[in-house]
Amino acid sequence: MTEKDLPALSIADLQSMLRRREVSAREVVDALRARVEAVDGEIGAYLSLDMDAAAKEAEEANVDLPLGGIPVAIKDIINVMGQPCTCGSKILHGYRATYDATVIRKLRAAGAIPFGKTNLDEFAMGSSTENSAMKLTRNPWDLTRVPGGSSGGSAAAVAADAAFGALGSDTGGSIRQPAALSGVVGFKPTYGRVSRFGLVAFASSLDQIGPLTKTVRDSALIMNVIAGHDPQDSTSLNEPVPDYAAKLGNDLRGIRLGVPKEYMIEGTDPQVKAAINAAVKQMNSLGAEIVDVSLPHTDYAVAVYYILATAEASANLARFDGVRYGYRAENPKDVLDLYGRTREEGFGPEVKRRVILGTYVLSSGYYDAYYLRAQKVRELIRQDFAKAFEKVDAVISPTSPVPAFKLGERTADPLQMYLADIFTIAANLAGICGISIPCGFAEVDGHRLPIGLQLLGKPLDEARILQIAHAYEQSTDWHKSRPPIASATHKA
Ligand code: GLN
Repeated sequence: MTEKDLPALSIADLQSMLRRREVSAREVVDALRARVEAVDGEIGAYLSLDMDAAAKEAEEANVDLPLGGIPVAIKDIINVMGQPCTCGSKILHGYRATYDATVIRKLRAAGAIPFGKTNLDEFAMGSSTENSAMKLTRNPWDLTRVPGGSSGGSAAAVAADAAFGALGSDTGGSIRQPAALSGVVGFKPTYGRVSRFGLVAFASSLDQIGPLTKTVRDSALIMNVIAGHDPQDSTSLNEPVPDYAAKLGNDLRGIRLGVPKEYMIEGTDPQVKAAINAAVKQMNSLGAEIVDVSLPHTDYAVAVYYILATAEASANLARFDGVRYGYRAENPKDVLDLYGRTREEGFGPEVKRRVILGTYVLSSGYYDAYYLRAQKVRELIRQDFAKAFEKVDAVISPTSPVPAFKLGERTADPLQMYLADIFTIAANLAGICGISIPCGFAEVDGHRLPIGLQLLGKPLDEARILQIAHAYEQSTDWHKSRPPIASATHKA
């Protein structure tokens, strides 16, 4: 194996090579640096890199630790001490994190090397990464298309072999949807499973951190490290963490999979439908029993989400006022002018739209009509899933109704953009876990565009979801396909 081939490895394979001393952690960082330099000019996945520090850490890496010597990319909304944390926003210009998020502390303790921060929609609001104030990120499968979002930088980096694995955050689909559009695995844990301490808050009752990786096993390996109770996050669950990787197997006997009739909506691309139907058959042939289920309140999920998420965002983003962090408007007349102009100049249009909407739904006279009602419907959506999970172990659907769309195609119409998350949002409202895995390709304009399959599971049932996803993945070759940019640069 030459240095050029190293970046294509999965975390699991890299781990065995490191442990057999066939490669050093330093060589891995050097190979990754070369790869990022070769492709990221075109992809635009990274907002900042600290490869010199990574190389130093690699020199001292203990490769026998759970993720010893493995470089991991981090969505730029998670604090890594000393590194910028822009949240894709101008308002955090110049800010550097003064502490490590709990997930970063845990990654470091397990020997992993956080080496770069990835692009995202501003404050994770969006589905295409186009709401970043910093740069565009392009889909490695077709550079004229979006990588999905908001964790688009993390997804594109992993897809282009410019990261072995990455962390993202998922408030309404931001790990699963970009994973689907970029052809990688994206896992959203149960609400409370992974600490949110050090994740810049968007909608605190929905946000979760999770991995984006090339394989399901790699997601399990990262989950083993980042999951668990944290007294610094009051919503963190105090439950034991199983060994997610140990439970992975190859058959699905005894597993019951629910196909919800509400999830094959009009407007779902026929190639996406066909791929999901084929995957359901495949899982059936691996021993799973397929059961019809119903999630009758699905229709309300997007509306409920955009009331609750914006309400929470309007409160969470109040802290960006020019006094405490980052950007500050120049020559303010007084303190109100300072607040007003800092926010006017520092926030982009999508963030402003949401702060205004969220403030409105929380205002007196409207609170009961919007916020309170949305909370009630959220509970009905949670109950839908609880009922379905009495009959099945997991619910299957497409992750996204369409494959990657063109850059610019949906930016003029926020509603169109919001609909990109129609299949992922309910899981956040219900607090359950979910994964997106590659399940096929659509042929569009001469390009092969990845299709993602979503599996949703009961609260704290991540081990089973990973097990089902892994068994399916191992029975297919989808995860082995690399985008043209990967092979083109490899051959060069
Ligand atoms: N696309 C959804 C939104 O714009 C979800 C984003 C996310 O999960 N962070 O809010």
